[in-house]
Amino acid sequence: MSNRFGISWFKNNRSTKGNSNTNKYYNEDSLNSNYSSLTICGSGSVQESSVCDTKLLDERLNRYEDESGQMNSITSLTDRVTYLRKNRENVVSKALTNIKESMNVDLCFVLDCTSSMSCYIKAAKMHILSVIDYVNRNNSNIKLWIGFCGYRDHGDGCGRLQIFDFTSSHKKFQNYLSNKVIANGGNDFPEDVLGGLYAATTRMTWSNATRILIHIGDAPPHGRRFTNFDDIYPNGDPNGLTAEFVFDKMRSNNILYHFGKITEYTDVMIEVFRSIIGEFLVFDLKGDLATLINKFCKATCSAIFSSVTLTTTLRNSKSIYSLQRKKLQINPLEPYWSILPEKAGDLLSYVLPKTLAEIMDECYFINSNFTVQNISFKLASQPFAVGSERYAYFALDTKLGQTDKLVIKKYHDVKIGSIEQYLESVEISSVAYFLSTEFNKAAESIGVKKKITFIDVKILCDKTDSNTYYSVEKYINNAEFKRFNVNSGIIIEFHSILEAFAHFTYHYTKGYLVVYDLQGVDLDNMFLLTDPSIHCIDLLRFGITNLGTKGIQKCFLANHKCNDICKKLKLIRNRVR
Ligand SMILES: [Zn+2]
Repeated sequence: MSNRFGISWFKNNRSTKGNSNTNKYYNEDSLNSNYSSLTICGSGSVQESSVCDTKLLDERLNRYEDESGQMNSITSLTDRVTYLRKNRENVVSKALTNIKESMNVDLCFVLDCTSSMSCYIKAAKMHILSVIDYVNRNNSNIKLWIGFCGYRDHGDGCGRLQIFDFTSSHKKFQNYLSNKVIANGGNDFPEDVLGGLYAATTRMTWSNATRILIHIGDAPPHGRRFTNFDDIYPNGDPNGLTAEFVFDKMRSNNILYHFGKITEYTDVMIEVFRSIIGEFLVFDLKGDLATLINKFCKATCSAIFSSVTLTTTLRNSKSIYSLQRKKLQINPLEPYWSILPEKAGDLLSYVLPKTLAEIMDECYFINSNFTVQNISFKLASQPFAVGSERYAYFALDTKLGQTDKLVIKKYHDVKIGSIEQYLESVEISSVAYFLSTEFNKAAESIGVKKKITFIDVKILCDKTDSNTYYSVEKYINNAEFKRFNVNSGIIIEFHSILEAFAHFTYHYTKGYLVVYDLQGVDLDNMFLLTDPSIHCIDLLRFGITNLGTKGIQKCFLANHKCNDICKKLKLIRNRVR
C-alpha cells in the first residue's frame, strides 16, 4: 500500500525543521522500491536544481489525473508529467474560453406590475443605470444585456404580460421602463406569477452564457398550495401551468432564478420553489424608498456576480442546480456539542516556507515535512455552508478540555483516505501566508496600517473514521464572511489593499504566480483571509483552479488597475521571466 501519509508512518518520523530538501518523506516500503530523483521543470522557469522524490511526485500527480481521465499506457514518470502538463494547458484554454463567455450576461427583471408595486418600479426606473455603472466600475469585462417581463393578473386582459426583449442599450431599457411600465391592475390577492415566469423563460431571447432572472413581487401565485387568502383560482393557474413545469423550462434554458422579497406573503411560495430547484438567493427588499434603492442595487449586483461566478466555475446549469440542491442540506446553527461523540485525530501541518526560493521550488512541499499533533475533537453531522468544491462543518477542539471552535472542510467528491486535495489547499495557504507577511512589511513602510493575513490551515486525519482526511482551520467568531474577488478576475467588493496585495504577489515572485480569489473577514486592523487560489506559471502546482500564465495575464493583469498602494510600492506589471 503506498500510503505515505499513513499515521503509523507519521509517528515514526522525526521532523527536521528547516532542512526540507534532505528529508526523505516516504514510508519504509519505498526504501526498497525504485527510488530515483527527477527534475520536473517543464516550464523551464523553476530552479533547475529542484529535485523531487519521484514517489512523492507520483502521488502529487494523482491530483491532476482525475481531471485528465484515462492515462492509457503511459508508464514513465517523465511521459506522465509531459502528458499531464499538456492536458492542463488544454483544460486551462477551455476554462478561459468559458470565463470569457460567462462574462456575457442576460439579465431579466420579472416584475409584478400591479398597483402595490409602484415604488419598486420607480426604483428600477431610476437606478438601473447606476447598477450597471457599479458593476462595470471594477469589472469592465462583464457585458450586460437587460430585459424585462412584467406581469399582472388574469383579469387584466392584454395588460397581463408585458415583455421587453434583451438589449445592450441600457438607455433604451431605462426609457422603456420610464415610459411604458405603469403599476396598475391586479384583482384578488394572488397574481399571475407563474405566467410571468413562464413568459420570461420562453418568450425572451436568452442567448448569453450567464442567464439571470430576478423576480420581484409582493404576492404569491394562484392556488391553495401558495396561499389561503382570497383567490379566484384556488386550484391553481387557470391555464394549467405548474411551478414544476415552469422551473423545468427555466432549468433547461440554464436560467438562474433569484427572488426579491417584499412581504412575508411570498414565504410559502419561496419554500415551494426551493423544494423544486434547491436553494436560490432571496433578497430582502423591504423598507422605504431610500433603503430600497440601496438594497435593489446591492441585490442586482450580487445576483450578477454570483451567477457569473457559478457559471464560470460550474459551467452548466445541471451542476449549478445540483449545488443549489446541496445547499438545502445545510444547517447554519451550531450543533448541541454534548450529544456528539468525541473523535481522535492527527493534525498535520507543513513547515512553512521562509524564502522566495522555497515558494518557487516546486519540490519544497513535496519533499517537505509535516509536524504532527494528536487532537480530540467533535464534528457536526450537517454542514453549515457549501461551496462549489467543499462543505464546511462546525467542529470543536476538545483536547485537554479546550473548547476552541474549528471549521472542518470536506471536498464533495473525494475518495476516503485520499489526502491529495487537502495537501493542495494547505500548500496554497502556506504560500499565501508567506507572501502576506512580506506584503505587510512592504506596506507598513509606505504607511499602510491595515494587515493582510491568511488563516492557518492544517490537515486533520480522523482516526475514528477510517483515516478520513479533512482540512481544518480556526473558526472566526462574529464576523461577516465576504468574497472580495474571484479567480476569474471579478472584483465583488473592491479594496485597494487587497488588489495591491494580489499585484504584489506577482511582482515579488517575479511573475511566477498571483494569489487571488480573496475571501474572508474585514476586521478593523486586518483582512483575515482563507481559501485563496493561485495562478502560477507551473500548471502542475496549486490544483485545478490554477489557470497558469494565461490566468495571470487574462484573469488578473488584464482586469487590474493599479491603485495608490501599487504605485507607492512601485509594483511592476510586466515581469519578464
Ligand atoms: Zn497594481
